[in-house]
Amino acid sequence: MMSTSILKLIISVRSFLDSTGRNFEVFTKPDGSPVTTSDIGVQIVINRFLMENYSDDKWISEESDSGLPESFLQKVTNLLRESDPDFKLSSTEIAQILSNRGNQNGASWWMVDPIDGTRGFLRNEQFSVCLARFTEGKPVFGLLICPNLPFPRLDSPETGTIFYWEKGSEPVQFSYWNFEIKTQISVNKNPTGILLTSVERDHSRMEKVEKISQGAGFGKILSFDSQVKYGLLARGEAEALLRIPGSATYKEKVWDHAAGLGILEAASGQVSDVNGLPFYFSGEETLSKNFGLLASNGIRHFSILKQIEEIR
Ligand code: AMP
Ligand code: MG
Repeated sequence: MMSTSILKLIISVRSFLDSTGRNFEVFTKPDGSPVTTSDIGVQIVINRFLMENYSDDKWISEESDSGLPESFLQKVTNLLRESDPDFKLSSTEIAQILSNRGNQNGASWWMVDPIDGTRGFLRNEQFSVCLARFTEGKPVFGLLICPNLPFPRLDSPETGTIFYWEKGSEPVQFSYWNFEIKTQISVNKNPTGILLTSVERDHSRMEKVEKISQGAGFGKILSFDSQVKYGLLARGEAEALLRIPGSATYKEKVWDHAAGLGILEAASGQVSDVNGLPFYFSGEETLSKNFGLLASNGIRHFSILKQIEEIR
């Protein structure tokens, strides 16, 4: 059963994204990646949820207030006010909430990506709001809010999917617009021949992914931004998900995987890095012992790893 506080959180995220729509500003971070007022607005909504309910836990979040211009934070404040008439905080208070990281000694960790796939969001394509909780280094909760993902299947006319899992229950997907419309999900053990990868070329090396796909006998590669890929695999619309970062030294960020991993494993999927090592979450921001990602329905995981080893 989903708790009332999670339900409230999802509704707050939805009303913020729905009321702001395509009204956002973009700021380029020092590493060259874009962040929008929507990323920051959603991070504020999530941090307020964590402050109210999980202040004893450690929070590991993508966004912070560092380097953001005052005018940008002011715009976020205005957008939050427009989406919620009861929102009374100033932009100074918002900056404080943004840099709150909970209790650094907390035994449980939350990993937050307020908008995973910001570049997909900018193109008005796929993105997801990602939230995970880990206890003793293992997933206990995962939530992927995917407003642009068709529901319940890719070829369905309705748009907006939420994937949800908590320890002790089956993973589910439900409609972004009607939480009553809910189905259990699990990976498809039949060969769909579909391999998922990123849209952004420097996030996943397309020429290598194509070779591995051919070698492993996949019929089709589909590209999507963000952790919607984990959701698609978990609901049976693909056989595997592959990510070979452009730079050999790139370390995956925990908030790019934590929520998707919990949901996919609960849906009987398998996750490792491209060397076959399990993801090691240490409570830090990166998966420092891992490189890239192979997630699958579990059937051919080992043989795809062998293809990767031959071609990389
Ligand atoms: P995707 O939508 O699968 O391309 O994943 C989006 C995520 O890729 C972003 O949230 C970034 O954290 C991450 N990312 C950024 N730069 C790189 C890179 N050079 N290699 C791999 N991932 C990256
Ligand atoms: Mg991200």
